[in-house]
Amino acid sequence: MSLSVCDSGHLLPVDEAIAHLLSQAPAAPAVHYVALSHALGRVLAAEVRSPMNLPAWDNSAMDGYALRAADLPAGGGYLPVAGRIAAGDDAAAPLPVGQVVRIFTGAPLPPGADTVVPQERCQVDGQRVWLPAVTLGEHVRKEGEEVHRGERLLAAGKRLRAQEIGLLAGAGVTRLEVYQPLRVGLLSSGDELREPGEPLAPGQIYNSNRHCLGAILRGWGVEVVDYGVMPDALAASCEALRRAAAECDLLLTSGGVSVGEEDHLKHAIAEVGSLDLWRLAIQPGKPLAFGEVAGTPWVGLPGNPSAALITALVVLRPFVRKAQGLCDLMPQAVWVAADFSWLNANKRRQYLRARLAANASGQLSVALHPQQSSAMLSAACWADGLALVERGQVLSLGEPVPFLAFAELLQ
Ligand code: AMP
Ligand code: MG
Repeated sequence: MSLSVCDSGHLLPVDEAIAHLLSQAPAAPAVHYVALSHALGRVLAAEVRSPMNLPAWDNSAMDGYALRAADLPAGGGYLPVAGRIAAGDDAAAPLPVGQVVRIFTGAPLPPGADTVVPQERCQVDGQRVWLPAVTLGEHVRKEGEEVHRGERLLAAGKRLRAQEIGLLAGAGVTRLEVYQPLRVGLLSSGDELREPGEPLAPGQIYNSNRHCLGAILRGWGVEVVDYGVMPDALAASCEALRRAAAECDLLLTSGGVSVGEEDHLKHAIAEVGSLDLWRLAIQPGKPLAFGEVAGTPWVGLPGNPSAALITALVVLRPFVRKAQGLCDLMPQAVWVAADFSWLNANKRRQYLRARLAANASGQLSVALHPQQSSAMLSAACWADGLALVERGQVLSLGEPVPFLAFAELLQ
Protein backbone atom coordinates (compact mmCIF):
# COMPACT_ATOMS: atom_id res chain seq x y z
CA MET A 1 0.00 0.00 0.00
CA SER A 2 1.40 3.35 -1.01
CA LEU A 3 2.21 5.60 1.93
CA SER A 4 2.88 8.85 0.19
CA VAL A 5 3.03 8.68 -3.50
CA CYS A 6 1.96 11.39 -5.72
CA ASP A 7 1.48 14.84 -6.48
CA SER A 8 -0.60 15.84 -3.47
CA GLY A 9 2.22 18.10 -2.32
CA HIS A 10 2.33 16.14 0.94
CA LEU A 11 5.83 15.54 2.20
CA LEU A 12 6.36 12.56 4.46
CA PRO A 13 8.20 13.35 7.72
CA VAL A 14 11.66 11.78 7.79
CA ASP A 15 10.99 9.66 10.88
CA GLU A 16 7.82 8.22 9.34
CA ALA A 17 9.70 7.41 6.15
CA ILE A 18 12.45 5.64 8.09
CA ALA A 19 9.85 3.68 10.10
CA HIS A 20 8.05 2.69 6.90
CA LEU A 21 11.25 1.56 5.21
CA LEU A 22 12.16 -0.47 8.29
CA SER A 23 8.75 -2.16 8.19
CA GLN A 24 9.51 -3.20 4.61
CA ALA A 25 13.12 -4.32 5.16
CA PRO A 26 13.88 -7.76 3.77
CA ALA A 27 14.79 -10.62 6.10
CA ALA A 28 18.48 -10.70 6.95
CA PRO A 29 20.63 -12.58 4.41
CA ALA A 30 21.39 -16.29 4.70
CA VAL A 31 23.78 -17.43 7.39
CA HIS A 32 27.17 -19.07 6.89
CA TYR A 33 30.33 -19.75 8.83
CA VAL A 34 33.56 -17.81 8.43
CA ALA A 35 37.00 -18.21 9.94
CA LEU A 36 37.95 -15.55 12.46
CA SER A 37 40.57 -14.27 10.01
CA HIS A 38 37.76 -13.39 7.54
CA ALA A 39 35.23 -12.07 10.03
CA LEU A 40 36.12 -8.37 10.11
CA GLY A 41 33.09 -6.22 9.24
CA ARG A 42 30.68 -9.16 9.22
CA VAL A 43 27.47 -9.28 11.28
CA LEU A 44 27.05 -12.02 13.88
CA ALA A 45 24.01 -14.17 13.13
CA ALA A 46 24.10 -15.86 16.53
CA GLU A 47 25.40 -14.87 19.91
CA VAL A 48 28.85 -16.13 20.83
CA ARG A 49 29.30 -17.73 24.23
CA SER A 50 32.75 -17.86 25.69
CA PRO A 51 34.32 -21.33 25.51
CA MET A 52 36.56 -20.46 28.45
CA ASN A 53 37.01 -18.24 31.46
CA LEU A 54 38.68 -14.92 30.71
CA PRO A 55 41.23 -14.67 32.19
CA ALA A 56 41.70 -18.42 32.22
CA TRP A 57 43.54 -18.26 35.56
CA ASP A 58 44.53 -15.68 38.17
CA ASN A 59 47.49 -13.72 36.84
CA SER A 60 49.56 -10.69 37.60
CA ALA A 61 48.66 -7.26 36.21
CA MET A 62 52.15 -5.90 37.01
CA ASP A 63 55.83 -6.76 37.16
CA GLY A 64 56.45 -7.14 40.90
CA TYR A 65 56.07 -9.62 43.74
CA ALA A 66 53.19 -12.00 44.43
CA LEU A 67 52.30 -12.79 48.01
CA ARG A 68 49.60 -14.00 50.34
CA ALA A 69 48.34 -10.68 51.80
CA ALA A 70 47.82 -12.25 55.22
CA ASP A 71 51.56 -13.07 55.41
CA LEU A 72 52.56 -9.38 55.43
CA PRO A 73 52.57 -7.31 58.63
CA ALA A 74 49.91 -4.52 58.53
CA GLY A 75 52.39 -1.72 57.89
CA GLY A 76 54.47 -3.70 55.39
CA GLY A 77 57.75 -5.53 55.95
CA TYR A 78 60.43 -7.89 54.62
CA LEU A 79 59.57 -11.29 53.13
CA PRO A 80 61.94 -13.83 51.52
CA VAL A 81 61.76 -14.38 47.74
CA ALA A 82 60.96 -18.04 47.04
CA GLY A 83 61.24 -18.06 43.23
CA ARG A 84 60.42 -16.44 39.93
CA ILE A 85 57.45 -16.81 37.54
CA ALA A 86 57.40 -15.18 34.08
CA ALA A 87 54.60 -15.05 31.48
CA GLY A 88 54.33 -18.48 29.88
CA ASP A 89 55.65 -20.32 32.94
CA ASP A 90 53.60 -22.92 34.71
CA ALA A 91 52.93 -21.99 38.34
CA ALA A 92 51.99 -25.35 39.75
CA ALA A 93 54.06 -25.14 42.93
CA PRO A 94 52.18 -23.48 45.83
CA LEU A 95 53.59 -20.30 47.35
CA PRO A 96 55.43 -21.25 50.56
CA VAL A 97 53.84 -19.69 53.65
CA GLY A 98 55.47 -16.36 54.60
CA GLN A 99 57.28 -15.95 51.29
CA VAL A 100 56.82 -14.09 47.99
CA VAL A 101 57.68 -14.85 44.36
CA ARG A 102 59.11 -12.51 41.78
CA ILE A 103 56.37 -12.26 39.13
CA PHE A 104 55.85 -10.58 35.77
CA THR A 105 52.82 -9.18 33.94
CA GLY A 106 50.62 -11.97 32.59
CA ALA A 107 52.33 -14.68 34.64
CA PRO A 108 50.09 -17.09 36.57
CA LEU A 109 49.82 -16.58 40.32
CA PRO A 110 51.06 -19.62 42.23
CA PRO A 111 48.44 -21.40 44.34
CA GLY A 112 48.11 -19.52 47.63
CA ALA A 113 49.15 -16.10 46.31
CA ASP A 114 46.36 -13.52 46.22
CA THR A 115 48.02 -10.12 45.83
CA VAL A 116 50.74 -8.46 43.74
CA VAL A 117 52.91 -5.48 44.67
CA PRO A 118 54.38 -3.54 41.72
CA GLN A 119 58.19 -3.64 41.70
CA GLU A 120 58.48 0.17 41.90
CA ARG A 121 57.02 0.01 45.41
CA CYS A 122 59.41 -2.71 46.64
CA GLN A 123 63.02 -2.67 47.81
CA VAL A 124 65.16 -5.70 47.14
CA ASP A 125 67.67 -6.64 49.80
CA GLY A 126 69.58 -9.79 48.78
CA GLN A 127 67.19 -12.75 48.96
CA ARG A 128 64.41 -10.77 50.60
CA VAL A 129 62.25 -7.86 49.57
CA TRP A 130 60.60 -5.04 51.49
CA LEU A 131 56.91 -4.64 50.63
CA PRO A 132 54.61 -1.78 51.66
CA ALA A 133 51.14 -2.36 53.16
CA VAL A 134 48.84 -4.00 50.58
CA THR A 135 45.16 -4.34 49.85
CA LEU A 136 44.09 -7.94 49.41
CA GLY A 137 43.72 -8.83 45.72
CA GLU A 138 45.33 -5.74 44.24
CA HIS A 139 47.07 -6.01 40.87
CA VAL A 140 45.65 -9.49 40.33
CA ARG A 141 43.50 -10.27 37.28
CA LYS A 142 41.09 -12.86 38.64
CA GLU A 143 40.09 -15.95 36.70
CA GLY A 144 36.78 -15.27 34.88
CA GLU A 145 36.58 -11.62 35.95
CA GLU A 146 35.96 -10.49 32.36
CA VAL A 147 33.68 -13.35 31.35
CA HIS A 148 32.95 -16.87 32.60
CA ARG A 149 32.87 -19.96 30.40
CA GLY A 150 29.40 -20.24 28.84
CA GLU A 151 28.52 -16.57 29.34
CA ARG A 152 27.73 -14.32 26.39
CA LEU A 153 30.83 -12.85 24.82
CA LEU A 154 29.04 -11.03 21.95
CA ALA A 155 25.40 -10.60 21.03
CA ALA A 156 23.83 -11.55 17.71
CA GLY A 157 23.34 -8.63 15.34
CA LYS A 158 26.68 -7.08 16.18
CA ARG A 159 29.14 -6.01 13.49
CA LEU A 160 32.62 -7.33 14.14
CA ARG A 161 35.21 -4.60 14.47
CA ALA A 162 38.86 -4.93 15.41
CA GLN A 163 38.09 -5.05 19.11
CA GLU A 164 35.48 -7.82 18.70
CA ILE A 165 37.94 -9.80 16.57
CA GLY A 166 40.52 -9.40 19.35
CA LEU A 167 38.06 -10.46 22.05
CA LEU A 168 37.04 -13.56 20.09
CA ALA A 169 40.66 -14.49 19.41
CA GLY A 170 41.44 -14.05 23.12
CA ALA A 171 38.72 -16.56 23.94
CA GLY A 172 40.08 -19.03 21.38
CA VAL A 173 37.12 -18.76 18.99
CA THR A 174 38.02 -19.81 15.43
CA ARG A 175 34.72 -19.91 13.52
CA LEU A 176 31.74 -17.62 13.50
CA GLU A 177 28.16 -17.78 12.30
CA VAL A 178 27.58 -14.59 10.32
CA TYR A 179 25.16 -13.24 7.75
CA GLN A 180 26.17 -13.25 4.12
CA PRO A 181 26.98 -9.69 3.03
CA LEU A 182 23.94 -7.81 1.75
CA ARG A 183 24.16 -7.45 -2.06
CA VAL A 184 23.16 -3.98 -3.18
CA GLY A 185 22.77 -3.15 -6.86
CA LEU A 186 23.96 0.41 -7.45
CA LEU A 187 22.71 2.33 -10.47
CA SER A 188 23.15 5.95 -11.44
CA SER A 189 20.71 7.71 -13.72
CA GLY A 190 21.38 10.49 -16.18
CA ASP A 191 22.54 11.01 -19.76
CA GLU A 192 24.89 13.75 -18.54
CA LEU A 193 27.07 11.39 -16.48
CA ARG A 194 30.59 10.37 -17.46
CA GLU A 195 33.28 8.49 -15.57
CA PRO A 196 36.23 10.36 -14.07
CA GLY A 197 39.05 10.01 -16.60
CA GLU A 198 36.75 10.28 -19.61
CA PRO A 199 36.63 13.53 -21.59
CA LEU A 200 33.60 15.73 -20.93
CA ALA A 201 31.53 17.03 -23.84
CA PRO A 202 29.47 20.20 -23.29
CA GLY A 203 26.62 19.54 -20.85
CA GLN A 204 28.28 16.50 -19.31
CA ILE A 205 29.44 16.07 -15.72
CA TYR A 206 31.35 13.43 -13.85
CA ASN A 207 29.42 10.77 -11.99
CA SER A 208 30.10 11.50 -8.38
CA ASN A 209 27.20 9.61 -6.76
CA ARG A 210 28.35 6.28 -8.14
CA HIS A 211 31.63 6.63 -6.29
CA CYS A 212 30.30 8.34 -3.17
CA LEU A 213 27.42 5.90 -2.67
CA GLY A 214 29.64 2.94 -3.52
CA ALA A 215 32.08 4.12 -0.85
CA ILE A 216 29.30 4.52 1.72
CA LEU A 217 27.94 1.04 1.02
CA ARG A 218 31.36 -0.59 1.16
CA GLY A 219 32.06 1.20 4.43
CA TRP A 220 28.86 -0.37 5.76
CA GLY A 221 30.10 -3.84 4.84
CA VAL A 222 27.78 -4.21 1.85
CA GLU A 223 28.68 -6.14 -1.31
CA VAL A 224 28.18 -3.57 -4.06
CA VAL A 225 27.17 -4.72 -7.52
CA ASP A 226 27.80 -1.68 -9.69
CA TYR A 227 25.58 -1.49 -12.78
CA GLY A 228 26.95 1.85 -13.93
CA VAL A 229 24.65 4.40 -15.52
CA MET A 230 21.10 3.98 -16.74
CA PRO A 231 20.40 6.27 -19.67
CA ASP A 232 17.46 8.64 -19.49
CA ALA A 233 15.29 6.28 -21.53
CA LEU A 234 12.43 4.12 -20.35
CA ALA A 235 13.22 0.80 -22.02
CA ALA A 236 16.88 0.79 -21.05
CA SER A 237 16.06 1.79 -17.47
CA CYS A 238 13.46 -1.00 -17.19
CA GLU A 239 15.95 -3.53 -18.51
CA ALA A 240 18.69 -2.42 -16.10
CA LEU A 241 16.33 -2.44 -13.11
CA ARG A 242 14.96 -5.90 -13.92
CA ARG A 243 18.42 -7.36 -14.23
CA ALA A 244 19.69 -5.77 -11.03
CA ALA A 245 16.55 -6.82 -9.13
CA ALA A 246 17.10 -10.44 -10.12
CA GLU A 247 20.70 -10.38 -8.92
CA CYS A 248 20.58 -8.32 -5.71
CA ASP A 249 18.90 -8.04 -2.29
CA LEU A 250 18.33 -4.31 -2.67
CA LEU A 251 18.48 -1.71 -5.44
CA LEU A 252 19.90 1.74 -4.92
CA THR A 253 19.63 4.39 -7.59
CA SER A 254 20.47 8.06 -7.66
CA GLY A 255 18.82 10.71 -9.78
CA GLY A 256 15.77 10.57 -12.01
CA VAL A 257 13.20 10.76 -9.20
CA SER A 258 12.37 14.44 -9.28
CA VAL A 259 9.37 16.03 -10.98
CA GLY A 260 10.69 16.96 -14.44
CA GLU A 261 9.80 15.07 -17.60
CA GLU A 262 13.43 13.99 -17.83
CA ASP A 263 13.01 12.01 -14.61
CA HIS A 264 12.47 8.68 -16.31
CA LEU A 265 13.26 6.47 -13.40
CA LYS A 266 9.90 6.86 -11.67
CA HIS A 267 8.17 5.84 -14.90
CA ALA A 268 10.47 2.84 -15.25
CA ILE A 269 9.66 1.78 -11.68
CA ALA A 270 5.94 2.02 -12.45
CA GLU A 271 6.60 -0.29 -15.41
CA VAL A 272 8.69 -3.00 -13.72
CA GLY A 273 7.67 -2.63 -10.07
CA SER A 274 5.83 -0.23 -7.83
CA LEU A 275 6.40 3.07 -6.11
CA ASP A 276 5.49 2.97 -2.43
CA LEU A 277 6.71 6.26 -1.04
CA TRP A 278 7.93 9.49 -2.59
CA ARG A 279 8.89 12.96 -1.44
CA LEU A 280 10.10 13.49 2.11
CA ALA A 281 10.06 16.51 4.37
CA ILE A 282 13.84 16.65 4.28
CA GLN A 283 16.31 19.19 3.00
CA PRO A 284 18.35 18.29 1.14
CA GLY A 285 16.78 15.21 -0.41
CA LYS A 286 13.05 15.84 -0.93
CA PRO A 287 12.62 13.61 -4.03
CA LEU A 288 13.65 10.39 -2.26
CA ALA A 289 11.55 7.46 -3.43
CA PHE A 290 11.01 3.91 -2.21
CA GLY A 291 9.37 0.93 -3.84
CA GLU A 292 10.15 -2.45 -5.31
CA VAL A 293 11.16 -4.08 -8.54
CA ALA A 294 9.99 -7.68 -8.93
CA GLY A 295 9.86 -7.98 -5.14
CA THR A 296 13.34 -6.52 -4.58
CA PRO A 297 13.22 -3.33 -2.49
CA TRP A 298 14.36 -0.19 -4.28
CA VAL A 299 15.54 3.08 -2.77
CA GLY A 300 15.71 5.99 -5.21
CA LEU A 301 17.99 8.69 -3.87
CA PRO A 302 18.00 12.19 -5.34
CA GLY A 303 20.58 13.09 -7.96
CA ASN A 304 22.15 16.10 -6.32
CA PRO A 305 25.35 14.79 -4.73
CA SER A 306 24.90 16.28 -1.28
CA ALA A 307 21.25 15.23 -1.20
CA ALA A 308 22.26 11.69 -2.23
CA LEU A 309 24.93 11.58 0.49
CA ILE A 310 22.66 12.86 3.25
CA THR A 311 19.61 10.78 2.41
CA ALA A 312 21.86 7.71 2.19
CA LEU A 313 23.28 8.40 5.65
CA VAL A 314 19.96 9.36 7.26
CA VAL A 315 17.18 7.40 5.52
CA LEU A 316 18.88 4.49 3.77
CA ARG A 317 21.27 3.57 6.57
CA PRO A 318 18.76 2.18 9.13
CA PHE A 319 17.07 0.16 6.36
CA VAL A 320 20.36 -1.31 5.17
CA ARG A 321 21.40 -2.09 8.74
CA LYS A 322 18.18 -3.99 9.37
CA ALA A 323 18.56 -5.88 6.09
CA GLN A 324 22.13 -6.77 7.09
CA GLY A 325 20.87 -8.32 10.34
CA LEU A 326 22.26 -5.62 12.60
CA CYS A 327 20.30 -4.90 15.77
CA ASP A 328 21.38 -1.35 16.47
CA LEU A 329 19.68 0.59 13.68
CA MET A 330 19.49 4.28 14.52
CA PRO A 331 22.37 6.69 15.09
CA GLN A 332 22.73 8.49 18.40
CA ALA A 333 22.38 12.27 18.13
CA VAL A 334 24.28 14.36 20.64
CA TRP A 335 22.93 17.76 21.66
CA VAL A 336 25.51 20.47 21.38
CA ALA A 337 25.22 24.28 21.64
CA ALA A 338 24.80 25.91 18.22
CA ASP A 339 27.47 28.43 17.32
CA PHE A 340 24.99 29.97 14.90
CA SER A 341 21.44 31.18 14.79
CA TRP A 342 19.11 29.79 12.15
CA LEU A 343 15.58 30.13 10.92
CA ASN A 344 14.18 27.10 9.14
CA ALA A 345 11.30 28.76 7.32
CA ASN A 346 11.03 25.60 5.26
CA LYS A 347 8.40 22.83 5.53
CA ARG A 348 11.19 20.27 5.73
CA ARG A 349 13.63 19.18 8.43
CA GLN A 350 17.08 20.43 7.49
CA TYR A 351 20.27 18.45 7.81
CA LEU A 352 23.01 21.09 7.82
CA ARG A 353 26.64 20.30 7.16
CA ALA A 354 28.30 21.09 10.46
CA ARG A 355 31.38 20.59 12.52
CA LEU A 356 32.12 20.32 16.23
CA ALA A 357 34.36 23.16 17.32
CA ALA A 358 35.22 25.36 20.28
CA ASN A 359 33.24 28.61 20.29
CA ALA A 360 34.70 32.01 21.29
CA SER A 361 34.57 31.00 24.99
CA GLY A 362 36.22 27.66 24.35
CA GLN A 363 32.98 25.67 24.82
CA LEU A 364 32.13 22.75 22.57
CA SER A 365 29.69 23.93 19.94
CA VAL A 366 28.40 23.16 16.45
CA ALA A 367 29.62 25.39 13.63
CA LEU A 368 27.94 25.53 10.21
CA HIS A 369 29.50 25.62 6.78
CA PRO A 370 28.29 28.74 4.94
CA GLN A 371 27.52 26.74 1.78
CA GLN A 372 24.55 24.38 2.27
CA SER A 373 23.73 23.66 -1.39
CA SER A 374 22.35 20.19 -2.14
CA ALA A 375 24.46 20.11 -5.30
CA MET A 376 27.87 20.63 -3.71
CA LEU A 377 29.92 18.24 -1.62
CA SER A 378 32.69 20.56 -0.36
CA ALA A 379 30.70 21.48 2.76
CA ALA A 380 30.26 17.80 3.62
CA CYS A 381 34.03 17.35 3.25
CA TRP A 382 34.64 20.25 5.63
CA ALA A 383 31.99 18.94 8.03
CA ASP A 384 32.19 16.08 10.47
CA GLY A 385 28.46 15.67 10.86
CA LEU A 386 24.96 17.00 10.41
CA ALA A 387 23.00 19.44 12.58
CA LEU A 388 19.24 18.91 12.53
CA VAL A 389 16.86 21.84 12.44
CA GLU A 390 13.16 21.06 12.46
CA ARG A 391 10.74 22.71 10.06
CA GLY A 392 9.70 26.16 11.22
CA GLN A 393 12.26 26.11 14.03
CA VAL A 394 13.97 29.30 15.16
CA LEU A 395 17.32 28.35 16.59
CA SER A 396 19.13 30.95 18.69
CA LEU A 397 22.86 31.19 19.18
CA GLY A 398 23.90 28.88 22.03
CA GLU A 399 20.75 26.74 21.96
CA PRO A 400 21.36 22.98 21.88
CA VAL A 401 20.95 21.34 18.49
CA PRO A 402 21.07 17.60 17.68
CA PHE A 403 24.27 16.62 15.92
CA LEU A 404 24.85 13.35 14.06
CA ALA A 405 28.50 12.45 13.56
CA PHE A 406 29.66 11.24 10.14
CA ALA A 407 31.97 8.89 12.03
CA GLU A 408 28.89 6.94 13.13
CA LEU A 409 26.80 7.42 9.98
CA LEU A 410 29.57 6.09 7.75
CA GLN A 411 29.89 2.81 9.64
P1 AMP B 1 18.04 14.45 -11.26
O1 AMP B 1 17.48 14.02 -9.94
O2 AMP B 1 18.32 13.31 -12.14
O3 AMP B 1 17.19 15.51 -11.87
O4 AMP B 1 19.43 15.12 -10.93
C1 AMP B 1 19.51 16.27 -10.11
C2 AMP B 1 20.89 16.87 -10.24
O5 AMP B 1 21.86 15.96 -9.79
C3 AMP B 1 21.29 17.23 -11.66
O6 AMP B 1 22.08 18.39 -11.62
C4 AMP B 1 22.12 16.04 -12.09
O7 AMP B 1 23.03 16.36 -13.12
C5 AMP B 1 22.82 15.72 -10.81
N1 AMP B 1 23.19 14.30 -10.76
C6 AMP B 1 22.38 13.27 -10.97
N2 AMP B 1 23.03 12.12 -10.85
C7 AMP B 1 24.31 12.44 -10.54
C8 AMP B 1 25.48 11.69 -10.29
N3 AMP B 1 25.46 10.36 -10.33
N4 AMP B 1 26.63 12.35 -10.01
C9 AMP B 1 26.65 13.71 -9.97
N5 AMP B 1 25.58 14.46 -10.18
C10 AMP B 1 24.41 13.85 -10.48
MG1 MG C 1 18.59 13.12 -14.17
